[in-house]
Amino acid sequence: MRNMKTDIMSLSVKELEQYLEKLGEKRFRARQIFSWIYKGADSFEDMTNLSKELKSKLSENAALKKLKILSIQNSKKDGTRKYLFALADGNSIESVFMKYKFGNTVCISSQAGCLMGCSFCASAINGLQRDLTAGEMSDQVISVEKDAGEKVSNIVVMGTGEPFDNYENLSKFLSNIHEKDGLNIGMRSITVSTCGLIPKMMAFAKEFPQVNLAVSLHAPNDTLRNKIMPISKKYPLEELLAASRKHIAETGRRLTFEYALVKGVNDSERNAKELAERLRGINCHVNLIPLNQVIETGLHGTERKETERFLEVLQRHGIQVTVRRELGGDIDAACGQLRLKNVIN
Ligand code: SF4
Repeated sequence: MRNMKTDIMSLSVKELEQYLEKLGEKRFRARQIFSWIYKGADSFEDMTNLSKELKSKLSENAALKKLKILSIQNSKKDGTRKYLFALADGNSIESVFMKYKFGNTVCISSQAGCLMGCSFCASAINGLQRDLTAGEMSDQVISVEKDAGEKVSNIVVMGTGEPFDNYENLSKFLSNIHEKDGLNIGMRSITVSTCGLIPKMMAFAKEFPQVNLAVSLHAPNDTLRNKIMPISKKYPLEELLAASRKHIAETGRRLTFEYALVKGVNDSERNAKELAERLRGINCHVNLIPLNQVIETGLHGTERKETERFLEVLQRHGIQVTVRRELGGDIDAACGQLRLKNVIN
């Protein structure tokens, strides 16, 4: 039988300590190895403070499964970089590096594909291929940092996939990047987005109360939401809003609602008024996202004038709201599109 190598990039420091003990090594080596991984070491050979024997033991028993960059799109306008990575099994995923005033941010994918089937989303088109491991999530940040040559201070888990559909690996990833010998990213500098898997929202509030939560609403009622987000049939809007209120009460933190504006679908003045009504009294911020064109879905983004009208209605009703700043406008592949093209070709 072939010896299955341990996926060392997915281990926590504690697991790494136990693993090294099993190999007959000292526990303190764990932090050294962990720190090399997050510094972007490409092989055990790169870990120069380990003995020759330990390096060869590791090569024999463990795998450092690094992502491979397939392509990069660079924005000349604002420094945004979109990465297409190959996973070891031939699947591909996307990550985006963005420069904001508050710091460099990487948007990562949590799954290869997605099961949730939102009608406007490029990532849903071929369904779910598989969950990403904690190591594959971390390596998106590590590889982007290394390639961009710049430190990353903020992470958003908003790329391909529903993070709460891969909860265990997500949770491990968050703990690992927060480690001081990992990427040392503050919990408050991380945002996780969900389409509304209610039971996991509650678990997340308990386990990661400091991490920002963004809930994708995209519609102000169930009739419309059922049409564009199948998950709504399982977790109706009223229950989702109740869960959001609970999350806010549990964590004491404001929550973000994401609302992708799809032309002629969910962007009327009536939709805006209804949304404002539903959100009244909730400690939240609404993020309006004019949808990027994905040819395969046949849907279009709302135009600027209508976006502003939608924004004004919410503001008039006292809702805190912004339109997401469009980054990488000149490389305008919508989220999930690079990967989609790669899967089709
Ligand atoms: S919008 Fe998010 S949850 Fe919906 S299909 Fe796309 S990746 Fe999945």
